[in-house]
Formats: sequence, structure tokens, C-alpha cells
Amino acid sequence: MAQGLRFECQPGCTECCRQPGFVYLTERDLLRAAAFLGMTAEAFERKYVYRTRRLLRLRTPREGRCHFLREDGCSIHPVKPAQCRIFPFWPELVESRREWQKTGAYCPGIGKGPLVQIETAQKEAADMRESYPALY
Ligand code: SF4
Repeated sequence: MAQGLRFECQPGCTECCRQPGFVYLTERDLLRAAAFLGMTAEAFERKYVYRTRRLLRLRTPREGRCHFLREDGCSIHPVKPAQCRIFPFWPELVESRREWQKTGAYCPGIGKGPLVQIETAQKEAADMRESYPALY
């Protein structure tokens, strides 16, 4: 991997929110999102979360990809789950030039903006690993 990766999220874009796959939550994500919406954690979990023995993930709505995605973007943006916040600095993308470039096919922010130092990108990737020990 080079000494840095170029990335800058593009205003108005929501492409990453529309990709297939699940949105996983940490326990802290759940508490913060519930508080942001003025709900109890229990009510939030009942309505939006699917919990397995090892993982929490957002339920997928019948229509669309995410309950919280609106025309103008993420409606829980300030408290969005770790994986959404960290994207595109996921370990599998930071550690593979090929995967990083492939992700650029749907993320127009990849390859744009200032150079993000590789150490910074790796720190984000480590945060992702720590947030979801069951996934890595
Ligand atoms: S796909 Fe890339 S540019 Fe678009 S919202 Fe997601 S991170 Fe930003």
C-alpha cells in the first residue's frame, strides 16, 4: 500500500448507504441512536435492531436499504453506526489496493481530496476491528 489514500466524501452523495449488506452496530451505537431519536434503548432495539448471540445489526426495511436514509442523507448522521462513520477505511479496503479501487466504482469520494496518511487510515481500520470483534 502507498503512503496514503486519497478520499473526500462528496456532498449530496449517499451511494455507500445504498450498497447491499448489513449495517452492524456496537452497543454504544445503539444507545446513542436511541437517545438521538428520543427513544429508550429497548424501544429502539425492538423497532430497528436484530440481535444475534454475537452481533447487532439494523433491520432492513421492506423498501430501500436503511430505515434512516432520507433523500437528503442520513437522518441520524451525528450518531451513525461505527461502520458508516469509518467507511471507506474498513480493514479489508485499507489493506488491499484492489478492494480500495473496486470500492471507487461506487464511491466517488475515493481518489479525490487530500491524501490521508496511511497511519491515519490504519488507525480508522483498527477502530473498525475493535468496534466489531465478531466480524474480524
Ligand atoms: S459513497 Fe463515498 S462519497 Fe458517497 S457518501 Fe459514501 S463515502 Fe461519501
